[in-house]
Amino acid sequence: MLRCDFLVIGSGVAGLTFAIKVARLLPHSNVVIVTKAGESESNTKYAQGGIAVVLDSYGDSFDRHIEDTLRAGDGLCDPDIVRMVVTEGPDRLNELIEWGTDFDEKSSGNFDLGREGGHTRRRILHHKDITGLEIERKLLSQAGTLPNITLSTHHFAIDLITQHHLGKEEGHTGAPVNCYGAYVLDSQTGKIETYVSKITLIATGGAGQVYQSTTNPLIATGDGIAMAYRAKARIEHMEFIQFHPTALYQHPQSSPSFLISEAVRGFGALLRTRSGELFMRNYDERGELASRDIVSRAIDSELKKSGDEYVYLDCRHLDLNAFRDHFPNIFNKCSELGIGLSGDMIPVVPAAHYLCGGIVTDRDGQTTIENLFSCGESARTGLHGGNRLASNSLLEAVVFAHRCYKKSCEMVEGITFPEGIPEWNEEGTTQPDELILITHNRKELQAMMSNYVGIIRSGERLDRAANRLKIMYEETEALYKRTKISPQLMELRNLISVAYLIVQQSLKRKHNVGVFFKV
Ligand SMILES: Cc1cc2nc3c(=O)[nH]c(=O)nc-3n(C[C@H](O)[C@H](O)[C@H](O)COP(=O)(O)OP(=O)(O)OC[C@H]3O[C@@H](n4cnc5c(N)ncnc54)[C@H](O)[C@@H]3O)c2cc1C
Repeated sequence: MLRCDFLVIGSGVAGLTFAIKVARLLPHSNVVIVTKAGESESNTKYAQGGIAVVLDSYGDSFDRHIEDTLRAGDGLCDPDIVRMVVTEGPDRLNELIEWGTDFDEKSSGNFDLGREGGHTRRRILHHKDITGLEIERKLLSQAGTLPNITLSTHHFAIDLITQHHLGKEEGHTGAPVNCYGAYVLDSQTGKIETYVSKITLIATGGAGQVYQSTTNPLIATGDGIAMAYRAKARIEHMEFIQFHPTALYQHPQSSPSFLISEAVRGFGALLRTRSGELFMRNYDERGELASRDIVSRAIDSELKKSGDEYVYLDCRHLDLNAFRDHFPNIFNKCSELGIGLSGDMIPVVPAAHYLCGGIVTDRDGQTTIENLFSCGESARTGLHGGNRLASNSLLEAVVFAHRCYKKSCEMVEGITFPEGIPEWNEEGTTQPDELILITHNRKELQAMMSNYVGIIRSGERLDRAANRLKIMYEETEALYKRTKISPQLMELRNLISVAYLIVQQSLKRKHNVGVFFKV
């Protein structure tokens, strides 16, 4: 049994920012980060476009950013949270810069601000088209300088420890649920360890892997949300899945799909059907710069009309030297695939990209479970409402990591370690003899979600999805009860829970709003 003051689950921007701050303020505390893959593998690492922050010396204003965020969220944002996040952005940005993050500047020395769909101003700070990688690297190197942080890679959090494990009553009887840490599988030894903590932070990111076609890496299986759901935390807005309109179309399909950043449209690229027609102005007067949901639905509708598998993103008229400078990663990927941007267009298709909902938190990142916090993509803070504005998620992650840190540091002294926490009980389980069944079920789930719970939903398709999920749930639970825990099995179980929440919350939503569209 391992005891720590702070247990951080996840090493993306949210988890690392929180851990660094806590470890600095309380040098005698011990902060443990567990992360299920390599230290940098996360959605953060793949973020391209950048982070949206208002810099008033650049002719922008908080009010404009707030308005843009509220407009994207379509009436479902919490306006107080939006104001709080936008106005706290500049301080958090300065910290990232202090920790070494390098944002692109023009020759004048001013930041080179990008513009993305739904923003009425240029306000996206970026590092080429690999902003997330730059932030992740700098945060990891900061965390590495702090002796009271332990980062354990290939450690997979399985379940939160609550009073249920102590045999006490909880939740539905009116007593609040308390979190005392988590059971964690060391994937390399196969051993399940008990991490007892005063404060636990879920920073496990999104769940794009619930779909067949997604820009999210393999780690994005919604584990934290599923764990919190099992522990009876409130989970909301799971029906709001943002599809990115322009993932690179490749045949055969690869997962994750390579993202062609929104900033490319901000740079002037145009969408055309395969027969060469421009179509975005038929859907929205902002054309290519309309928000993601509108562009994704427009593409979906063009594909349905034409029967084609993709549309094109046309960069042929752009200054390609400047393009290569801004988007070296995208330029190189296209070149590798033989797409020469002066003569060829890029085939693109929408893919699941961002989860707007998640674990409900208050303005300090506290969940409905005592001593359990969440921030980053796993949380539903009230910022995004029905649709996230581009580049607002890195901003949300750093602002809420800071707020979680402030609140939890105030609380930690008053929390004592509980006694009598049992070790994980593996009795009666055996090694799985057919791991392939788990792989098949994951693929079946992803195909089912893409077919029935995609950009445009219907009551009938959602009912079908619910029926199929029930069978998958029963099969997987039976396997879970008799088999030794593995990351593959846990991810499948978590994906099924996340899919269930998406389907159930989609069935409940009666009106189309934000990215939610039901016919
Ligand atoms: C291709 C792409 C481009 C994007 N571009 C932008 C952009 O330009 N601007 C923007 O604002 N946002 C962008 N986003 C979204 C943004 O990157 C994410 O929302 C944000 O990085 C999430 O950070 P996070 O720390 O919450 O989660 P993540 O960065 O995903 O980190 C989650 C961490 O949790 C770990 N983990 C998960 N489950 C477990 C478990 N069971 N046990 C232990 N560890 C676990 C993972 O291994 C990982 O370390 C993009 C996303 C993608 C995929």
